[in-house]
Amino acid sequence: MGTYVVTGSASGMGWATAARLRANGHTVIGVDIQPADVVADLSTPAGRRAAVDAVLSACGGRLDGAVLAAGLGPTPGREQPTLITEVNYFGVVELLQAWQPALAAADRAKVVVFSSNSTTTIPAIPGRVIRALLDGDGEKAVRTLRLFGPAASSMAYGASKLAVSRWVRSRAVTRNWAGAGIRLNALAPGAILTPLLEKQLSTPAEAKAIHSFPVPIGGFGDAGKLADWVVFMLSDAADFLCGSVVFVDGGSDAYFRAGDWPKSVPFWRLPAYLRRFRGFKQ
Ligand code: NAD
Repeated sequence: MGTYVVTGSASGMGWATAARLRANGHTVIGVDIQPADVVADLSTPAGRRAAVDAVLSACGGRLDGAVLAAGLGPTPGREQPTLITEVNYFGVVELLQAWQPALAAADRAKVVVFSSNSTTTIPAIPGRVIRALLDGDGEKAVRTLRLFGPAASSMAYGASKLAVSRWVRSRAVTRNWAGAGIRLNALAPGAILTPLLEKQLSTPAEAKAIHSFPVPIGGFGDAGKLADWVVFMLSDAADFLCGSVVFVDGGSDAYFRAGDWPKSVPFWRLPAYLRRFRGFKQ
């Protein structure tokens, strides 16, 4: 039996994941701003540091897996772009960087980061915001997001999930992660009926936008079934899964972007591709 940390363990998909892992006999260290094993506010550097330290002390320096589910939705509000980027991006990458040695200490540890299908279905997310987040400059990211006025929260949400997915894909294949035996992947859900979505549905304008959004399967996803995906991605079955973003979204991404991926490397990027190819070391 293993030891797993689950952020966002007090509600929704994080709660459902923690419940399944515990039912399977694993030890779970839940982290949340609401009641949990470790209560911490992941929207501040001090809160993230407290979460890091408390988990490292509770796990004894070894983690078989981590699930990063704490997150905020695209609720409108002046301070939301800051909160969203702090929790959804820095609340993932700072924790994972600090827990990496504990994950490396386990045998084939698995990490599942919650992304979203907003990464590919919200149009025109500015690359500048993604670059600022990946550079660790949250203030610069928020300054650009504020230019979007009433759409700033929704852009912040899409940007936070896009940046965290890019972070996962770029780090997953490196010596510190794949090379240390850690499988780092992301799960990109569509609209899943959790307290986060229920809050959005309680606002008529947001409810209208959500109900009119194209979902080929129809309806909403179920938190328990998404937790089953997470448990699968933490299992031995996922030993060969590395740097993937798994979409479980009722078909919205495929509906909008069927021709965009998979895609061959374009001719003009061949030199960069060949450099990567020749530079590969196990
Ligand atoms: P939820 O609101 O039910 O759960 C999120 C949890 O994160 C809550 O327990 C909350 O207390 C915690 N959290 C929020 N801010 C925090 C902070 N500052 N510090 C510590 N904990 C904090 O949401 P959910 O729908 O289960 O979402 C889980 C993840 O999935 C999130 O990252 C969300 O962005 C993502 N997601 C959700 C949906 C959806 O439709 N529900 C779709 C795509 C992605």
